[in-house]
Amino acid sequence: MKTLEFKNGDKLPMIGLGTWKSKPGEVYQAVLWAIEAGYRHIDCAAIYDNEKEVGKALDYAMKNNMVKREELFITSKLWNSSHRLEDVQPALSKTLIDLRLDYVDLYLIHWPVSFKPGVGFAQTREEFYTYGDVPLSQTWQGMEQCVDTGLTRHIGVSNFNISKLKEIMESARIAPEMNQIELHPFLLQDNLVNFCKANGILLTAYSPLGSSDRAASIKKANEPSLLDHPTVKQIAEEKGASAAQVLIAFSLHREIAVIPKSVNKERIAQNLEAMQLSLDDKEMSTLSNIGLTYRFVDGSFFTGPISPYSLADLWETV
Ligand code: NAP
Repeated sequence: MKTLEFKNGDKLPMIGLGTWKSKPGEVYQAVLWAIEAGYRHIDCAAIYDNEKEVGKALDYAMKNNMVKREELFITSKLWNSSHRLEDVQPALSKTLIDLRLDYVDLYLIHWPVSFKPGVGFAQTREEFYTYGDVPLSQTWQGMEQCVDTGLTRHIGVSNFNISKLKEIMESARIAPEMNQIELHPFLLQDNLVNFCKANGILLTAYSPLGSSDRAASIKKANEPSLLDHPTVKQIAEEKGASAAQVLIAFSLHREIAVIPKSVNKERIAQNLEAMQLSLDDKEMSTLSNIGLTYRFVDGSFFTGPISPYSLADLWETV
């Protein structure tokens, strides 16, 4: 298994299993199939509302000697409603109860957007906090406390742009070690990727296959398809691989971890086998120059007339 290395030598398996939208009733089996196939990295989040079932699968796998805890790399994420200093550790403690673990390997601030406690998705202006109410540096202090108390081995962020990373880094006692962001041939984010690499921040690519199973309510009409793009399909055909494998290998070749989601046994195995797929410079260049820019998870569910946040708060380039 290819890995990325943290500053202390801990290793992150470069392909992990995504679990967003994996329904209760599906995710238990998906996690066990993944572990059986050789996955050692599972990407979770409190807001996915399935951590209890993921935890049941992890518990089963460990009790039945399929895998040892120290061989697994488990990521979870702090939801927007627990950004106040006093709410961060309790949120992780709840995740640990659900996942049936003593610690996670990596804990991330899910979004640089803050809601009042108990809010799932803010529907009114009153349900939001602003950066003035809860500065990101305050949330980061809570994240650092989670390392101090041993609830997580590493901390990082997700959906952070360069200016927000800089803001945290200015006051951080423990520098962010990961930025999990949307990355694929339609969204290269070269500036952000280069900034992270130059500052010792590892990267994980989310929605690497185009996240086509998102609810219609958070999809735009006529979204382009990554898996059906002729360039991706042609390279796949030439390599005797699937389009998904080409997209996963594309991230690996950029030295970026990647977390395709699947609840299908064959596709779970197939996605991990992308580790073996080698792309040459010409193929990487062709994929990098498709010439179509598209962000599938655009964060617009956090912006709009009732929100204190705008898309410009999230992305350097929308
Ligand atoms: P994705 O992995 O790009 O795409 C998932 C879709 O691709 C599902 O419909 C899945 O269907 C299908 N699929 C999987 N393998 C396939 C294959 N080999 N061939 C064809 N189709 C395949 O989407 P995502 O779930 O948005 O992103 C992956 C993970 O990243 C998430 O699950 C989550 O863990 C993380 N994520 C994080 C954030 C964040 O804000 N930090 C945002 C988005 C995602 P089946 O399940 O039926 O196989």
